[in-house]
Amino acid sequence: MKEQLARLWSLQSLDTILASAKKRLLAIPEDIAAAERALADADKKKKTALAEIEASRLARKKREGDIAANEAEILKFSGQLAQVKTNEQYKALEHEIEHLRTKTGTIEDEILGLLERDEELAGELVAAEKAVAAAVTGLEKTRIEAAEEEKALKAESEHLTEKRTAAAATIDKAVLAKYESIRKADGTIAMSRLVRDACETCYRQVPDQRQIEVRQAKNLVTCEGCGRILYQEDPE
Ligand SMILES: [Zn+2]
Repeated sequence: MKEQLARLWSLQSLDTILASAKKRLLAIPEDIAAAERALADADKKKKTALAEIEASRLARKKREGDIAANEAEILKFSGQLAQVKTNEQYKALEHEIEHLRTKTGTIEDEILGLLERDEELAGELVAAEKAVAAAVTGLEKTRIEAAEEEKALKAESEHLTEKRTAAAATIDKAVLAKYESIRKADGTIAMSRLVRDACETCYRQVPDQRQIEVRQAKNLVTCEGCGRILYQEDPE
C-alpha cells in the first residue's frame, strides 16, 4: 500500500496542475473581454468629447449670430436717431441702443467662456484619443498573448492527461476508485498530508492511533475532518 499511496500522491500532483491549467483556460476569454471593455470605454469617452466639441461649436455659432442680429439692430436704431422729433423719442432710442450694447457685451463674455471650454475639450479629446490608441494596442496584445497561452495550456494539458492516464494505470483499481470518489465529491484534492499531528488541509488533529496507521501505510486512512486520504511522505 505504501507504494500505491506514493503513486496516488504523484497522481494528485498531476491532477492539481491539470486543474489549474483548466481553470486558467476558462479565465482567458475574460481577459479578452476585459480588454474589449476597456477599448469600448475609451471609445465612448472619445465620442463624448467629440460631441461636446460639436455642441460648443454650435453654441458659439449661435451666439455669433445673436451678436450680428444685435449689431444690425443697433445700426437701425442709430439711423433712426437723426429722424426723431422729440427729446423723449431720442432718449428712448438711446436707451434701447445702450441696452443692445450691454446685451452684446454679455454674449461676448459667453463666447469667451465657450472658447475657454473649447481649449479644455481639445485637451480632453487628445487624452481620449491617446487612451483609445492604448486600448487598441492593449487589446491586440491581450489577444496575441491569450492565443499563445491557450495553445501552450492546451498542449500542456494534453501532455499531462497522457501522463496521468499512464500513472493511473499503475494504481490499484479500488484505491484509484476511492481517490476519484473523494476528489469528485470534494471538487479539489482527495489526499492530504499528515503534518506533525494534523491534516494539512483541514487542520483537524489526527488521533495517535491513526497517525501510526498513516505512517505504516498498510491501508487507506482518511481524515476525520475532511474525509481526504491521509498521506505521509517518506523522510528524504
Ligand atoms: Zn482533513
